[in-house]
This record gives sequence, C-alpha cells and structure tokens, in this order.
Amino acid sequence: MLLEQAGHEVLLFEGRERPGGRLYTAASGFEIGAEWIDEDHNRMRSLLKDLRIAEVPAPDGEYLYLREDAKCLQSMPWSDAEQDVAQFEALADKAAPRAYESVAGLIDAACNSERGKWMVTAKVRTDEGDEPHRIGFEPWLAYRELYKSRKGGEASAFRIDGGGKAFVEAVLSRINATPRFGSVLESVQVDGSVRLGFVGFEEIVDAAVLALPLPCLLDIRIDPPLPVEAELRKLDFAPMVKARFGFDAAFWRHEGWYGYLKTDRLIQQTWPDRAVPSALVGYVCGDAAERLGRMNDAASALRAEWATVTSHGAPEVEVKVWAADPFARGGFTIAPPGSDPERSRNRNDGPVQVAGEFAAEWMGFMEGALESAEAAVEALTKKPARG
Ligand SMILES: Cc1cc2nc3c(=O)[nH]c(=O)nc-3n(C[C@H](O)[C@H](O)[C@H](O)COP(=O)(O)OP(=O)(O)OC[C@H]3O[C@@H](n4cnc5c(N)ncnc54)[C@H](O)[C@@H]3O)c2cc1C
Repeated sequence: MLLEQAGHEVLLFEGRERPGGRLYTAASGFEIGAEWIDEDHNRMRSLLKDLRIAEVPAPDGEYLYLREDAKCLQSMPWSDAEQDVAQFEALADKAAPRAYESVAGLIDAACNSERGKWMVTAKVRTDEGDEPHRIGFEPWLAYRELYKSRKGGEASAFRIDGGGKAFVEAVLSRINATPRFGSVLESVQVDGSVRLGFVGFEEIVDAAVLALPLPCLLDIRIDPPLPVEAELRKLDFAPMVKARFGFDAAFWRHEGWYGYLKTDRLIQQTWPDRAVPSALVGYVCGDAAERLGRMNDAASALRAEWATVTSHGAPEVEVKVWAADPFARGGFTIAPPGSDPERSRNRNDGPVQVAGEFAAEWMGFMEGALESAEAAVEALTKKPARG
C-alpha cells in the first residue's frame, strides 16, 4: 500500500496459496494467528479506521491463575505472590541494563515465594512468548520503556471486527497489485538490478522489500548479504501453538471466572473467543509449545488437559502448531540474551530492504510489521516515515 501510495509499480509475491501470513482466520472463524491490538498500537488503529473496520473491545474480566494446588483471581492474588510481583516491578524499575543475563535472573532475585515465582513466570512467559531464561534482560528492559506510560489495561485492548480475514481482504481491496501466490523465494542477487530467484522462475526488479518471517528470511541466499545479517541471527523465533476450545456452554461464568486463564501446564493462557460465546482461545508458548510440536496429536493432548481445569467436560479442539508451518516456522521474534534488536534494525540505503515484525521497535506485533514497512519504504523512497 505504502509503495503504491509513493507512486511505485508494485509486484507482490507470496509463497503460500493464500494472503495474510500470520494473520489468518480459519473457515470455522478460529483466529489462528494474530488477534489482539494494544491501545497504543497507533498504526494498526489508524489503518483500521482508514479501512473502515471497527475495533471490538476486549470482554471485561480478569485472569484466573490456576496451579495444581490452588487458584486465585488476578485482583485477589496470594499475598506472598503479590509481594513478589511488586518486588519484580520495583527491581526492574531500578535495574541496570546488564544487571541480569535473562529475565529469569530478575525473577530469581525478586521472588521469595514459590507461588510468586510461579505467577511471575506464567505472566512473563505469556507476555514475551517464551520461557524467561530465553528472554534477554537488556532488550526486555529496553522494551519496558515502550510501556512506561501505560497505566494498565492497554495491552490486548481490541480485536478486529470480522477478524484477520476482514482485515486482509480490506487491505487487498486497496492495492492495485495482485498477489502471485505460490511464489517461493529462494535467492536474491543485487548486480545493478535485483534478481529474485523463486522456485521455478526468476524476476528482475529495481528494488525489493523482503517481508518474510525471520527464520524464512535467514534461509534466503542474499548476495551481497544483508549488513545486519549477523545481528538478525542473534534473534530467535518463539515456538507457538494456538488453539480454540469449543465447549457446550460458557461454563466459566458459573465457576466465577471470565474465560481468562493462566496456568503453567500445556494450556498456558486462554481468553474468550471473539465470535463464539461458548468457546475459549488458547495460546501456548515456550517449552510447552515445543512439547506439543513434537506430539503426533496435539489436539488430543490439549483436550485431555481440560480435565485438570474443569469437570465440565472436554471441548472440541482446533489447533495450529506454528513451528510446523514452513512459511512461518514459529510464532514471532524474541530477543534472547546477547541479542541487540536496536542494532538489528539498522537500515542500509541499498535496493533490498527487509520488513516484518522482527525489524521494528514493536517487535512481535502486527504494529511492528507496519512500523517496519514504513521504515523500509522510507529507505527506498527517501521520504520521511510517519510516526
Ligand atoms: C499464534 C500467534 C499469535 C499472535 N498474536 C498476535 C496478537 O495478538 N497481536 C499482534 O499484534 N501480533 C500477534 N502475533 C504476531 C503477528 O502475527 C505478526 O507480528 C505479524 O503477522 C507479522 O507480519 P509480517 O508481515 O512480519 O509476517 P507474516 O504475516 O508472517 O508475513 C510474511 C509472509 O511471507 C511469506 N513467506 C514466507 N517465506 C516465504 C518465501 N520463501 N517466499 C515467499 N513468501 C514467503 C509468508 O507466507 C507470509 O505470508 C501472533 C502470531 C502468532 C503466530
């Protein structure tokens, strides 16, 4: 869209046979990939407005934290855990960037009780998309700056009316280029012009924006290599599983909770489905996502888990293991210890630019994908980016 607005003729190549990438609504209505927009994701919000798509506010409610031996609502946490959560935030406020190697170091330093450590770990894992020991402390602290003005409730504030499907269709209706599906990029060579080597054909263009998930990008043979390649290779991609659990009824309402759940079992986090009142959507990351990815039947494993949560009965399960998707190979980018996302975002002034959530301050989010697109287009057209 931005390139066409800047007056360029655009060719659009896509490896899959469908548009949308990690933003995808199944025929059943299951939102398989991205779903939530934060209140301060201004690019996404203004694009939705422009596309005349409404934002659907998150349903009211709070998380139920569920352990094998106990459960509590977020607003009434165990007192020992409450102290640890406060101590975690207080230590983060005054920590030096290199005080700890990973966020796990901060959790160990802040938490005195086993339940506090459990609760903070469950929260960090689902917020960041991986186990705390794989989240670099220095990048995490830098991201925390982005959230400094938040007072609470800004995260996951809205969903897209009609879901990813409505959004993707609206974007496609605004561009002249027709996606060429099934175009799998393998190589890029810059020799005056840019030669794009796809499986079975080649295309020569003046410039290219490579908007691929990080693991897919790093597999492309790029000659000469991207100046930031070494920095990009220090980043990681979180394994991710998403599922929808269709129950007969919204049993959680009768059990005194809201459908928002955090556990450290295979089902790590749920929230109410956007479209079906008796369904919950589940999000699994970290070690549990890797375990699920290795299973032959992830749906059955998740279905069986519900016996530990409720006596209400097992749900119908739809599941997507993102690590097994060849055009994603995981959920989204994370910054492990030793990585420096800021350096990996450095732009060159050549004809090959990268875009995608990995190349943005809002790394991991749809907002980041838009942010990186602005930066890539600015680098190609030398026009100042918005925002
Ligand atoms: C389970 C899950 C939940 C998420 N939840 C949220 C959320 O609630 N909110 C949020 O903001 N973000 C969320 N995200 C992240 C969000 O999906 C991404 O940040 C965003 O979609 C990234 O867009 P992108 O354009 O960078 O990448 P993609 O959407 O992945 O697009 C890249 C495109 O490149 C194509 N491609 C890959 N390899 C090749 C190749 N070799 N040749 C040609 N084409 C190729 C892919 O098919 C894809 O269409 C979630 C992600 C997952 C997986």
